[in-house]
Amino acid sequence: MTLTILGNNSALPAFDRHPTAQIVSVGSEVILIDCGEGTQIQMQLYGQKWRKLNHIFISHLHGDHYFGLPGLLNSMSLLGRTQPLNLYAPIALQAILDQMMLAADSQLNYSLHFHPLTAGEASLLVENKSFSVKSFPVEHRIDCHGFLVEEKSPHGRKLLPEKCREYQVPTYFYHRIKNGEDYERNDGFTVKSEWVTIPALPGKKYAYCADTRYTESFIQHILHTDLLYHESTYLDEEAEKAAQRFHSTSKQAAKIAKVAGAKKLLLGHFSSKYKDLQPFQEEASEIFSNVRVSKEGECYEI
Ligand SMILES: [Zn+2]
Repeated sequence: MTLTILGNNSALPAFDRHPTAQIVSVGSEVILIDCGEGTQIQMQLYGQKWRKLNHIFISHLHGDHYFGLPGLLNSMSLLGRTQPLNLYAPIALQAILDQMMLAADSQLNYSLHFHPLTAGEASLLVENKSFSVKSFPVEHRIDCHGFLVEEKSPHGRKLLPEKCREYQVPTYFYHRIKNGEDYERNDGFTVKSEWVTIPALPGKKYAYCADTRYTESFIQHILHTDLLYHESTYLDEEAEKAAQRFHSTSKQAAKIAKVAGAKKLLLGHFSSKYKDLQPFQEEASEIFSNVRVSKEGECYEI
């Protein structure tokens, strides 16, 4: 699983940093998280294929997180997309998009399935054989959601022979039960594959914490991730402003990574007042050692 940053700035584009958008590649698909202005251009620039895109997640309806969406949706239609697309976002976005289509007297050539996110609630949004995506509420000035992407283990499952013996699974069935089949014994008892196997290697976990003030209210949803992306709009000296505007500082992001037991932290959503991002790295490193400042166009292995 990889993460490509298409934009990592807050409200205003500045210093070659675009507003928020990022691509997670998992299995044979890519998913898009947030869609700030210029996302379709950034996708072209960084070689991201819309044909692999079936799911788009929008954290909240501040413009720097979705102003690129109408353009992207429209371009995919013009380029001949017919495969359906799933969009997960706060409910008000549906009316906004409908109104734009109505005013333009146009239609998309593909089905756009709108899945409203419920304010204040965590939920499982997608689950397929390659990955799952869950949303969780964060604390911003308006309804806002973080996302947890969990990869299904690409390495299959490992057999536990002692468990097989305990449940009286015959050796000729080992291969099948390892591949997910259940075994029915002569006495009618069914031995479930998951009782006698474990994932060979766990899949990777990525959490996107969207725009949020410092809060540990969603920690339980982001425990022990391989990579945690947390906003750090401001440096620590602006902690008061950050709290007033429901944003976080570099040190607060680092504290969340530490409390949540993340393996790695990636900082983003920088205020356009900062040209040099090195101080973000330095401040966060005082609290959490494995931290990086996100860079547009960069691809991170999760
Ligand atoms: Zn926001």
